Amino acid sequence: MGPQGAGKGTQAKQISAEYEIPHIATGDLYRAAVASGSNLGRQVEPLLAEGRLVPDDITIQLVRDELLKAGDGFVLDGFPRTLPQAEALDQLLEEIDRPLSIILLLALDDATARERLTKRAAREGRADDTPAVIDERLASYHEKTEPVVDHYRTSGNLVQVHAERPIEDVWAEISDVLGQVQARA
Ligand code: AMP
Repeated sequence: MGPQGAGKGTQAKQISAEYEIPHIATGDLYRAAVASGSNLGRQVEPLLAEGRLVPDDITIQLVRDELLKAGDGFVLDGFPRTLPQAEALDQLLEEIDRPLSIILLLALDDATARERLTKRAAREGRADDTPAVIDERLASYHEKTEPVVDHYRTSGNLVQVHAERPIEDVWAEISDVLGQVQARA
């Protein structure tokens, strides 16, 4: 978990490669759906363009399908982003008999997040990295996703990592934390 620009995608890809588990990133799945022009893509395209969240029922169904396909472990990126999504995830994990080993929070202040997203806009040309849409996405993070972080802070194995540091330093810490989780399992 963490605000846009914290490096969730980058670090999740590393975890996925290191542990050979699928990287389930709802944002990537939605962008792929938009690019393919599927029904789902057409439905979510305007929401992504405006930086608004896709309705929970659609997102929960998407993740449910992916989790049922995933075998022995997975890394979730960009989900859950609302309390109802977190509740649905709890139920889903119970169904497939898999606890959440760890919730990683990549903490970053808004000013650094804005700066990074603006640079990414220049580099990758992501349609939702414009100043107005960046503001909308950060506002949605504070309003809807921070309560989920608080929920896991009090009732989950949440570990906070300072994400303003270079990618390699953040990865070194995450790798360390995951090693400890694995040693305990
Ligand atoms: P991301 O790449 O994670 O920033 O996601 C890009 C966009 O996809 C978001 O701005 C939302 O429109 C949508 N999206 C991704 N994950 C979710 C989610 N868990 N719930 C609702 N919408 C999502």
